[in-house]
Amino acid sequence: MHTASDSESDNIGKERYPNERISVFDMFKIGVGPSSSHTMGPWKAALLFVNELPQIVTGASGITRLQVELFGSLAKTGPGHGTDLAVMLGLAGYDPATVPLDVVQHYAADRSQSVVVKLKQSWESGAAGSTPTSEQAALEFHPTRDIHFLREKILAYHPNGMRFSAFNNAANSVEKAPTNCSQAILTRTYFSIGGGFVVDEADAVNEAETTAASPPSLSGTMTHSVDDFPYPYRRADELKHHCHALHEPISGVALRNELRLRSIPEIEQQLDQIVVKMCACVVSGLSASGDLPGGLNVQRRAPGIAATLLGSPLCYLIPLPDPESEPELPEVLADVIRTIERRSVSVGTDRVGFERILRWISAFALAANEENAAFGRVVTAPTNGAAGVIPAVMLYYLCFTEGIGRPELRRFLLTAGAIGSLFKQGATISAAMGGCQAEIGVSAAMAAAALAELQGADIDQTLMAAEIAMEHHLGLTCDPVGGLVQIPCIERNTMGAAKAIAAAALAISSDPAAARVSLDAVISTMWATAQDMNTKYKETSEGGLAVHIPINVIEC
Ligand code: SF4
Repeated sequence: MHTASDSESDNIGKERYPNERISVFDMFKIGVGPSSSHTMGPWKAALLFVNELPQIVTGASGITRLQVELFGSLAKTGPGHGTDLAVMLGLAGYDPATVPLDVVQHYAADRSQSVVVKLKQSWESGAAGSTPTSEQAALEFHPTRDIHFLREKILAYHPNGMRFSAFNNAANSVEKAPTNCSQAILTRTYFSIGGGFVVDEADAVNEAETTAASPPSLSGTMTHSVDDFPYPYRRADELKHHCHALHEPISGVALRNELRLRSIPEIEQQLDQIVVKMCACVVSGLSASGDLPGGLNVQRRAPGIAATLLGSPLCYLIPLPDPESEPELPEVLADVIRTIERRSVSVGTDRVGFERILRWISAFALAANEENAAFGRVVTAPTNGAAGVIPAVMLYYLCFTEGIGRPELRRFLLTAGAIGSLFKQGATISAAMGGCQAEIGVSAAMAAAALAELQGADIDQTLMAAEIAMEHHLGLTCDPVGGLVQIPCIERNTMGAAKAIAAAALAISSDPAAARVSLDAVISTMWATAQDMNTKYKETSEGGLAVHIPINVIEC
């Protein structure tokens, strides 16, 4: 058992961005698969860039070409992670939370298709993307011509760097034109730092000046200042202090902070939306068929497992033409599963009840991540690659615990989000920085704490559950085969969910006063491990399974 020293754990979060706070809704973001750092982040960066063009560039209609350069990990695993697709759709003005999935599938099927980029706006967002409401200028963006994968170049701040540039013929019409690029009239550099968080170059420079040895922080449009939250915390012991002072569980402290940003009805509505979207993702995955895209010929397994458990395909039992618009979907799914499970007990087939529950947990986790791999609608939790762990544990709790409703599920997400923010601030949720411990490990810790609190753990036991879950993911590498978020990613979500449930049970059965490893110590250890980890295990597909499994994938 590795234990970080007190001095190491004391350094967590002390010097970095003391004014920034993370909302639970920063941790859980609705978007599109397969990767939060390689799909969602570049997508948001493209939106930031294209939205800035009309404000910065005089005579935007004079722009003749846009160019996107992808560096480091984004270049190495970008094609498999849909980075090019994300950039295209972002430049075309689509929001990942609302883009119609048939639009995504259309461009995913042939990524050489060009998209139209609107250069003058104001835009109105809608279900079909953004619509220009005033005079517009547009140009075509050709991904095969305009996106450059620079595999051998890594920008200094973070392995997930990308540079967007706009060119015109005159190349001299903008006062903010970069001097190091003679033809570009506007250039912006962004970094996708995990979980869909994006920072721009200015944020990155400021942070680098703050401390070079600390994990990357969040910034840009997704953070809140210290004044936003009445009970700020960067470390587990600070969170624990607020819990004791307020006589509140972790979810209670998180709720009080969210109230500074939103009203109770808004918080509940948004938490419910996340619950429904997570469940919709699982139901879509349980109802789908066929192989996953990308060329590895990975078969979906979640529908078959569910059909075996249910006795028939899920779609025969839940006729939902559009599961994304069904607000009662979690309760409907839970009723179906409970009914079948009660029947299985009554007919004497429950000799392996534990095994059946384990299969359900696996089916939930597989379903979410098979949807993620298929460019489906996914909620980052805290990332896309790990997006199956928290829904699987949440649905396990809903389906196999009596009397659970939305209030409990809201608390589940609040606690999970609070724990995720501790890892975001004290270590990283980026696989390109810390390997898979930063994705599956963090999601397991979030789920473990949330489940433990709802199962009656006190504050120390809740934090202990998160600690246990992460302790046994330390050092987990990221080595996606073929650069796709499929092997080992999809199965790994089932492992994370099972470990989270075991960690909650273990913590509830333990005395935290006797524990030798604190949550702060394990977060510090995770960050130290991330720094020691060889680069080839950080979302590059240059090590581990990625080089030991023969594949024949044609990069597109
Ligand atoms: S191996 Fe883990 S961190 Fe890497 S892409 Fe897969 S799920 Fe994400």
